[in-house]
Amino acid sequence: MRITPAGERALRHGSPWLYDTWLEEDCAGAPGDLAVAFDHRRKFLAIGLWDPTSVIRLRVLHQGSPVVIDEEWFRQRILAAQELRRPVRDSDAGTTDGFRMLNGENDGLPGLVVDRFDRTCVVKIYTLAWIPHLDTILGILQEMHDWERTVLRLNRAMQARPELLHGLRDGQILSGAPLSGPVLFRENGVVFEAEPVIGQKTGFFLDQRDNRARVERLSRGLSVLNVFSYTGGFSVYAARGGATQVTSLDISAPAMQAAERNFAHNASHPAVAHCRHEPLAEDAFAALEHMRKQGRRFGLVILDPPMFAQSKAQVESALAAYARLTQLGLAVLEPGGILVQASCSNRVTSEQFFDTVLAAAQAVGRPLREIERTGHAPDHPCTFEGGAYLKCLFARG
Ligand code: SAH
Repeated sequence: MRITPAGERALRHGSPWLYDTWLEEDCAGAPGDLAVAFDHRRKFLAIGLWDPTSVIRLRVLHQGSPVVIDEEWFRQRILAAQELRRPVRDSDAGTTDGFRMLNGENDGLPGLVVDRFDRTCVVKIYTLAWIPHLDTILGILQEMHDWERTVLRLNRAMQARPELLHGLRDGQILSGAPLSGPVLFRENGVVFEAEPVIGQKTGFFLDQRDNRARVERLSRGLSVLNVFSYTGGFSVYAARGGATQVTSLDISAPAMQAAERNFAHNASHPAVAHCRHEPLAEDAFAALEHMRKQGRRFGLVILDPPMFAQSKAQVESALAAYARLTQLGLAVLEPGGILVQASCSNRVTSEQFFDTVLAAAQAVGRPLREIERTGHAPDHPCTFEGGAYLKCLFARG
């Protein structure tokens, strides 16, 4: 491929993607073909996976001098990613068996995410370009662990193109035992259900692990409100940390039922057994407003909404929504209580997010005293601009 000066600059700057507009001319090629980008002197620049159906035409595997991309190359990349996660695997002496093994772009394999939940391996692909290489990847993953099963997840864009999927489908069991419901795994000793086949993302939000542990440490003796709770990840940690009561609030009724089961899975822990859990399947904005009017107050409020900005054009409205949430959260937070607010919109920068939250609090006369600004857990490394999507503020309000 001959590419434009802008494309060349982007690649040299470490972009894992090459957009269609950066090509001097489009190329023939099937999804998953290896494609080489040359610089303006016709020298090798990068090699990656071609996808003619995506505006991201090339996902860069390697940049610099020429290499051979073969099974051994993929094996070394995957092993390097596991080496990086050794602290996560070893530090808690076997109390965590759910974590991200491969974080796509950030582990040098753009568009390929692998999460493990105990002995279930979930492979999520974001481009058709991985389909021809799936057998190679699965073979390498099989060498690494005795999996009970491997599940394939496809992003939404791919699900819309069944004619290009070679018979593969979202949620398919690629190998091993069938699965009709959730699987159990442990995170810092907390037992959770994951829904690898039908759940959001790969079935659980592993990226919040360290923030959940922080909430556990802050929860003793407090009443906790977990807004956008999904299956109650933060809720169970808060309970184990000694919260007197926890309210989980999410619009999804099945997620609320799973949150109840997650409390039951951890009932052998006295603090979890003692904590009263209130699941609420309601719209967060309406429920917060209602609670405010009722005069309900909490000692710790968690706000972890879904992605608000899918595109650049949505950044402004996303920031307005974050500000609104801060104010709704503060309205039900006891004076001096702890606010935990997160954003997973990668279009919104850390600075924009933190500034917005702080300003929104100031505007309603509840200036925040910051405790900590955090991001994802270390099994979600971030190696390129745009890779750090999760931002989280811990503050007193
Ligand atoms: N905090 C969770 C992850 C949250 S993901 C964890 O640690 O696992 C975002 C959640 O927001 C999803 O579960 C989704 O169902 C929920 N959601 C989306 N829109 C909502 C709304 N308007 N009101 C309440 N919940 C909503």
